[in-house]
Amino acid sequence: MPELRRDPIVGRWVIIDSEHLKGPADFPKEDNTPKNQAICPFCPGREHQTPEEVDAIRPLPGQANTPGWLVRTVPNKFPVLTSQGALQKEGIGIYDQMDGIGAHEVLIECPDHDKILTDLTLEEVKAVVSQYQSRARYLFQDSRFKYVVIFKNFGSSAGATVEHTHSQIIALPMVPKTVLEELQGAEHYHQYRGRCIFCDMIVQEYQDKERIVMENGSFLAFCPFAPRYAFETWIMPKVHSADFSVIDEATQADLAQILQDVLKRVKKVLGNPAYNYYLHMAPIGYTNAACYHWHIEIIPKLTRSVGFEWGTGLHIVSTFPQDAARFLHDSSH
Ligand SMILES: [Zn+2]
Ligand SMILES: [Zn+2]
Ligand SMILES: [Zn+2]
Repeated sequence: MPELRRDPIVGRWVIIDSEHLKGPADFPKEDNTPKNQAICPFCPGREHQTPEEVDAIRPLPGQANTPGWLVRTVPNKFPVLTSQGALQKEGIGIYDQMDGIGAHEVLIECPDHDKILTDLTLEEVKAVVSQYQSRARYLFQDSRFKYVVIFKNFGSSAGATVEHTHSQIIALPMVPKTVLEELQGAEHYHQYRGRCIFCDMIVQEYQDKERIVMENGSFLAFCPFAPRYAFETWIMPKVHSADFSVIDEATQADLAQILQDVLKRVKKVLGNPAYNYYLHMAPIGYTNAACYHWHIEIIPKLTRSVGFEWGTGLHIVSTFPQDAARFLHDSSH
């Protein structure tokens, strides 16, 4: 019997297609190893091929836009939003329009073209997370921006156009709808229960146990009860925290550890699939910090959305989250 499940934060229903269940072996495999170093603009020595860096971590003192960096952040050469100009809003009848003001940055995660995020040392992943945080903190200071999203596309079918390992950061002049839905759901829950729904979710995950992938000192990784996609996995800080931009160094280190560990498990179990992950944090200047809880959502790219899903917002998932969690939990990499 197929099962309908509801996500308690945003109220989204999903269908678990239990009549056609899929395990790791049932998804198509693709080759996501990097191979085109010869034409890569993100490799050391080609710093002039990107816009000038806005931030970098250099273990030894060195000049900007020269080799020697461990992590390097540059404006996207093909930004979806531009940072020049003032915020102009205009109504055209029933329609709203505003200038495309924002920031779009690329964070090159390591100098080595042949390495992907799962190949880096823990110290190197820590540098990536530390750069995530310092860019978020920097962009939070721009009064034109209301939201910062950090995300990664890995593999061409997940939207990566350059294979050299990198993440992206976009600052927006408004709060996007997906985040608004989470905020509204969390605020509503807080109003009548007096607690954070994400914190309650963590309590329930510990009770139910079967969806837990792993944990460390600061974080829990689990497959959500009502996933939109097979092997969808969330990482949440165990202690309530709305604002990612202020996490301390020990928390950054734990985040680096669990993020990489989960990605290694995904790689091992599913054969290096393409994936997306993104970090949801509270909007800039958000005042209901007791309601919201920052987190990362990891979506392995195993299937394509079909008309029914576009038309209804109801996702069809062919893997139970407890089965996905067991595969990921049991994999030793
Ligand atoms: Zn490269
Ligand atoms: Zn919380
Ligand atoms: Zn979220």
